[in-house]
Amino acid sequence: MGKRISRRNFLKVSGGVAGAVVATSAVAGAQPFPPGWKGDTRTELIPTNCEMCFWRCGVLAEVNDGKLLKLQGNPAHPLTKGKLCARGNAGIALLNDPDRLKFPQIRTGERGEGKFKRVSWEEALDFLAARLKVLKQKYGPESVAVFPHGVHSGFFSTLMKAYGTPNSAEPAFAQCRGPRDVGYQLTFGRPVNSPEPVDLEESKCIVLIGSHIGENVFTSQVTAFAEGLAKGAKLIVVDPRRSTAAAKADWWLPIKPGTDTALLLAWMNVLITEKLCDAAYLDKYATGFKEVAADVKSYTPEWAEPITEISAAQIRETAHAMAEAKPAVAIHPGRHVTWYGNDTQRARAMAILTALVGAYGRKGGIFLPTKLAQGRIPLPPMPESEKGRADRIGNAYPLASEEAHGLTQGLIETTRTANPYPIKGWVVYGQNVLESIPTRAQTLEAIKKLDFMAVVDVLPMEQTRYADLVLPEATYLERYDPPAIVSTSKRPFVSVRQPAVEPMYESKPGWWIAKQAAKRLGLDEYFPWTDPDDHLRRLIAPLNIKESELKSLGAVSFDGKPYIDDRSEADGPLFPTQSGKIELLSSVLADLKLDAIPKYEPTPEPPAGYFRLIYGRAPVHSFSRSENNAWLDDLMSKNPVWLCTDAAKQAGLVDGQKVILENQDGVKSPVITLKVTPAMRKDVAYTVHGFGPQAPQLKKAYQHGFSDTALMTRIAIDPLMGATGMRVNFVRVLAAERG
Ligand code: SF4
Repeated sequence: MGKRISRRNFLKVSGGVAGAVVATSAVAGAQPFPPGWKGDTRTELIPTNCEMCFWRCGVLAEVNDGKLLKLQGNPAHPLTKGKLCARGNAGIALLNDPDRLKFPQIRTGERGEGKFKRVSWEEALDFLAARLKVLKQKYGPESVAVFPHGVHSGFFSTLMKAYGTPNSAEPAFAQCRGPRDVGYQLTFGRPVNSPEPVDLEESKCIVLIGSHIGENVFTSQVTAFAEGLAKGAKLIVVDPRRSTAAAKADWWLPIKPGTDTALLLAWMNVLITEKLCDAAYLDKYATGFKEVAADVKSYTPEWAEPITEISAAQIRETAHAMAEAKPAVAIHPGRHVTWYGNDTQRARAMAILTALVGAYGRKGGIFLPTKLAQGRIPLPPMPESEKGRADRIGNAYPLASEEAHGLTQGLIETTRTANPYPIKGWVVYGQNVLESIPTRAQTLEAIKKLDFMAVVDVLPMEQTRYADLVLPEATYLERYDPPAIVSTSKRPFVSVRQPAVEPMYESKPGWWIAKQAAKRLGLDEYFPWTDPDDHLRRLIAPLNIKESELKSLGAVSFDGKPYIDDRSEADGPLFPTQSGKIELLSSVLADLKLDAIPKYEPTPEPPAGYFRLIYGRAPVHSFSRSENNAWLDDLMSKNPVWLCTDAAKQAGLVDGQKVILENQDGVKSPVITLKVTPAMRKDVAYTVHGFGPQAPQLKKAYQHGFSDTALMTRIAIDPLMGATGMRVNFVRVLAAERG
């Protein structure tokens, strides 16, 4: 029996630090990039990390005389191996975006009116510090909430923790990956994390449940997916829409939305009743098999057929395909998984299925992370909050992470209601609170209650109109960010973001802004490093590599131990759960008197005449972050709404027609274009997320397409960890002239 882990410790490790540090050594061989020539001009190749999305591909920035000429993939990068996607190439258009925030500004008009005056950095930082001091004095430090986003947001998180507020939340948890990470943590003892450790290139059977790889592009993931298919992997895609991946599938299962857990339980039923599981693996590594077998006995394919609208024969056939390929079965845990409000239990079902075919920690399944030692910069203790966090009223959501992320909508609700105490200030760093969080009417209501709102960003996103203070951050091509120390790669690695060019206009890097603010708030001691070089040196110290080596290569990789067979006892527990085993029956959930084995719960269905609104991604955009990018706008400037041919015909609508969407609460979209396709179920309407910002200052993106978030006036909250299920909104499609 392994060491007992309390709920509190479960929550701590769910922040991503589970597992022992495995001794590794740097992989030798890569050479620094030599300067080159463009015509008769000498150019430099500066390695850095992309930030057009959060995959952090390795980039070489070609620079001449301080001017960025081109971006290309860094062949020495261990994960992305020289590949950039369209967005990665278009980073140059972000750098040169004429709409960029260029200097600090203080609001002069009404909130939302968009009237500001230009101020100096001195004045802006003094203003920030003065307003934060007043709020602390008047209401306590907890009265300021911070909304950071991205791997580089650590400097602001440190600043605000040192200021004394525990109230910090990123959409990455409650609007994206949280249920998945909690579900896998409960089962295997560690979250999935990012990049997802799915062994696609070695898999013999790939299972995608709502993951639309190819439209959702992360370069190394797409490459591994293509490699796996080229080597003959079978592909099962579960999606109401025939996505690009579904078009390549051996089985496309157009599931009725909201019924995925029923399918997963039926798959388990087939594997268990037909004795197709990896019995030796389960005997050795898992607990709770008997209980799961008893529980899923009644969940036959025939039971699931009318629920999922997938035939029992297909359910059996696909379960057999997984069994034949075991243990090389890559059931992708997904990324954006906040769908119906019961998402953690769906993730649990996916994790259990993975275990039944023996695929966790095995070649072709989900591989194990190899932790790298990371340097720590000693800081004074952070102040303890007297009032505690405000984002989970009455201790709701027992598995919400305490260490990381927090619940965005919880902070918005507290700001709106002053319950359990007033929140009067927001510091928003690189996060789009109006587009990434649903129920925007409540967000706007909350913003109106604020005494002070500061926004740090590169572009004038919609929320900057509501800010009291706007601080222009340098783009990722102009700044240093902390090194990425990545364990969820078969060969773990460290990579660095360093400036390729000087910041344009009066923009400043985030580290500089946070350090300067700390100085004015008397919090200098929390920023004890002198400059980025010093910061980098300290963080990579335990890796035994030179700062100059990392800066000249961009990334350095180490030996990994991705599979169970690579590990010895010295590498720490394989499954850091309470029992030390894979928990098919979750002891944490049992202790909490919650469903320790997942159950199927129906989700409300659209009323007659309405479609369920579902959404996804396009390969050339990263949500609202890239809509204003001139190169990407050229490739895709709008998001039509998709309907299936039969449904459109029934409604008397045709392809290319102008329509308006109206949701169940009467909220309408602007006039948009209808795309009619046979490649969908008839009960869903689909669009690409992230378009339609209400921000005239974004001259390319403004009034391009529509915001699906604006139609999400209803959410279903996951009772385990507080995520906001967003696929619970219904729309009807009206001809524009009748709208
Ligand atoms: S996937 Fe594309 S946008 Fe994302 S980091 Fe890689 S190159 Fe950049």
